[in-house]
Amino acid sequence: MSDQIAFSLDAEFAAELDRADPLRRFRNEFVISDPDLIYLDGNSLGRMPRATAERTRTLVAHEWGVGLVRSWGNGWFDAPAAIGAKIARLIGARPDEVVVADSTSVNLFKLAIAALCARPNRRTIVTDEFNFPSDLYVLQGAATLLGQGHHIEMARSPDTVHMPNEVITKCIDSDTALVSLTHVAFKSGYLYDMQSITAAAQDAGALVLWDLSHSVGAVPLELKRDNVDLAVGCSYKYVNGGPGAPAFIYVRRDLQTELRNPISGWMGQQAPFNFELHYQPQSDIRRFLSGTPPMISTAAVEAGADLLLEAGMEPLREKSLLQTEYLIYLFDRKLAPLGFTLGSPRAGSQRGSHVSIRHPDGLRIDKAMIHAMNVVPDFRAPDNIRLGITPLYTTFREIHTAITRIERVVERRLYEQFSDDAPTVT
Ligand SMILES: *Cc1c(COP(=O)(O)O)cnc(C)c1O
Repeated sequence: MSDQIAFSLDAEFAAELDRADPLRRFRNEFVISDPDLIYLDGNSLGRMPRATAERTRTLVAHEWGVGLVRSWGNGWFDAPAAIGAKIARLIGARPDEVVVADSTSVNLFKLAIAALCARPNRRTIVTDEFNFPSDLYVLQGAATLLGQGHHIEMARSPDTVHMPNEVITKCIDSDTALVSLTHVAFKSGYLYDMQSITAAAQDAGALVLWDLSHSVGAVPLELKRDNVDLAVGCSYKYVNGGPGAPAFIYVRRDLQTELRNPISGWMGQQAPFNFELHYQPQSDIRRFLSGTPPMISTAAVEAGADLLLEAGMEPLREKSLLQTEYLIYLFDRKLAPLGFTLGSPRAGSQRGSHVSIRHPDGLRIDKAMIHAMNVVPDFRAPDNIRLGITPLYTTFREIHTAITRIERVVERRLYEQFSDDAPTVT
């Protein structure tokens, strides 16, 4: 890989890397309305696959328009588990361990409550300051709701970029009920050692719940090999499922009957259409469903997952690593001299698929990139500009041009015309 490749600064070198890219045809599978726009925010909302337009059009016009309620019996009802089985292949799980449902936040709530109830004599939830705030809020809410004095132990990073294993593992003890972490940190992109942390939690008798939102479709995962207990993940980032597309829930096979879904709605009932008066959960992963699936966006998740399966997670990871490494090479030579610091790990083995670059004027630079340079990164306070690499459609040439445009914005101080008032959405 990159240790065999001597990178070079010129644009022709980027074009060469694009020509040699075995995944280059996948860019054509996406709607690209402005070829000059450099979209580096696929880690927030992935681009739209062409197949999605067709799939959702068929669903609306035929399955809903013509089939009406009959379509529930023609694939809709089974979709959460069937599409879950495809996601299972992306994350190295068994097909009957994943269902598509609800949002990541709601799924995290369901599994956190289920886990805490399964460890009734323990009172500590271990998490860390890199976790996505929504996850922390949900854990705080779960602790409050149970009213049993659960305490949240929040591990701190030594350097704001890395979260070494031992920082987490030393928080775990015989009072730990649950360890809940995000596998790739949303700000620095730090990639956790899933296998070791999972084993450490289990050795202490705790359950472990991973949020895969920044991992699924970005890095290969081996949930079965790593014996992961529980996981949730998002489908509108690297899975390209569309805005607000339903998320997924993973529960290891042997835990499924032991855990109870606290939102015990009819879709998790043994036989929903028997309309029994008392809840009897499904005996499999479907017990973690609650209500009726949103079919239009559920179908869109499948279109996104199909592209990832076709490309393969190993080739995607290989390209992603080469691209983030190339980006860091350009960063060191062009942006570091302008006052930027790297906000992501240098070691590829510890990095997901985005690179954060930090600058005291980060917010204004981010705005200038979007409004004056036709580059879309995003900004995470206090000073992180995130550059999301989505190997299905990001080109090396785009990375080269984006860095050149950032360099121009800073050298010519073009960002000074933008305010540093925080926008509502970044
Ligand atoms: C994107 C993301 C979410 C999103 O949660 P929603 O419920 O879809 O809003 C949750 N957790 C992590 C780690 C994320 O990156």
